[in-house]
Amino acid sequence: MNKKTVEAIIAPPPPHMVGDGFRVHNFFPNSRLIDKKRMSPFFLLDYNSKVEFTPSKIPRGVGVHPHRGFETVTIAYHGSVAHHDSAGNSGVIGEGDVQWMTAAAGLLHKEYHEREFSRKGGLFQMVQLWVNLPAKYKMTPPKYQEISHDTMGKYDLPNGKGVVEVIAGEYKNPDGSGQAVKGPASTFTPMYVYNARLKKDADLEINFPENFNTGILVVEGSATVNDRKVSTDHFVLFKNDGESIQIKTGEDAVLLVLSGEPIDEPIAQYGPFLMNTWQELEQAIDDVNAGKFGVLED
Ligand code: MN
Repeated sequence: MNKKTVEAIIAPPPPHMVGDGFRVHNFFPNSRLIDKKRMSPFFLLDYNSKVEFTPSKIPRGVGVHPHRGFETVTIAYHGSVAHHDSAGNSGVIGEGDVQWMTAAAGLLHKEYHEREFSRKGGLFQMVQLWVNLPAKYKMTPPKYQEISHDTMGKYDLPNGKGVVEVIAGEYKNPDGSGQAVKGPASTFTPMYVYNARLKKDADLEINFPENFNTGILVVEGSATVNDRKVSTDHFVLFKNDGESIQIKTGEDAVLLVLSGEPIDEPIAQYGPFLMNTWQELEQAIDDVNAGKFGVLED
């Protein structure tokens, strides 16, 4: 297998607040290197690097807002968030858990620090991904998948060197050892989403198809990825020129690994709407104003 070339190692851009609860580095789609299509089907990556929130009686977060045309995937590393949407779904995720919300035809959403976490304060670290949907699924009914840590597929590295937690897609060691491990998320297009939790001196190989857009966010520790040293909070973007990724660690590390088949369709985005045309964006705004996204109390 040919190695995928590392195209760039991207330092965390200056953070901004989303509501008052999320202090995020936006790695894409607004970076110089990664435009709206470069990581498709992943459209957006907001990373709340590890930060300490002081105790607060009123949970911090983001109030009611609409979404249409895509999925929001929230991955918790530290802290806890509560989710409610106008499709009637709600849930709380904590360390190691994931919530996978399909907005599709549209819903109203709010996301806050979980009440008890808020009251005590503490370390908070999260990722939110926006996963695009192909045109034919953009107007399908909303759905919600809560993916708790214990339901993830787990591939144990030999000699206790760590674990690959499979959230979406599957993992099988290219050397043929071990079983293929599948993730619980149901997705609309082919993709792989893993948390690789590696111990010092781990050695992990992963293969993804050449045409799949692929990146790795180092959320803890550091690693050598296809011979390039990558530090905490940095994002590795790969060229579409090979299959193989080799990861080695000199310390404990946690890596979010993303790879997916590009959706080759036009993109029109306005705020929380991700469609194919401007006309569809205008329709989305009209539909929100007409109350067609349902009701959600603030
Ligand atoms: Mn949202």
